Amino acid sequence: MSSTRDELRHVTLGSPFTPEVPLGSTRDILITCHVSATGKGKLHGSPECRTLRSAASVNQIDVPFGEAVARLCPSCRWPLPTDSLILRSAPL
Ligand SMILES: [Zn+2]
Repeated sequence: MSSTRDELRHVTLGSPFTPEVPLGSTRDILITCHVSATGKGKLHGSPECRTLRSAASVNQIDVPFGEAVARLCPSCRWPLPTDSLILRSAPL
């Protein structure tokens, strides 16, 4: 498979990553997440997530991956650059 630096891969981060997976240097990488305006609940890769439809409004926030990993929505996909360190450390 050929890849360019600008290519994005959509990855379900919530299933391969759990708080038990050692993150190393990926823990400081910011990922863009969508969360309900209350700030509670799961972090989502897309504002279109079914789970977010009941939320009154949705905020977009950047979260360090090390913090986000415990709250990742298991069904959402995140667009990541194909050369992202997160992809390299993912048990995908
Ligand atoms: Zn979601």
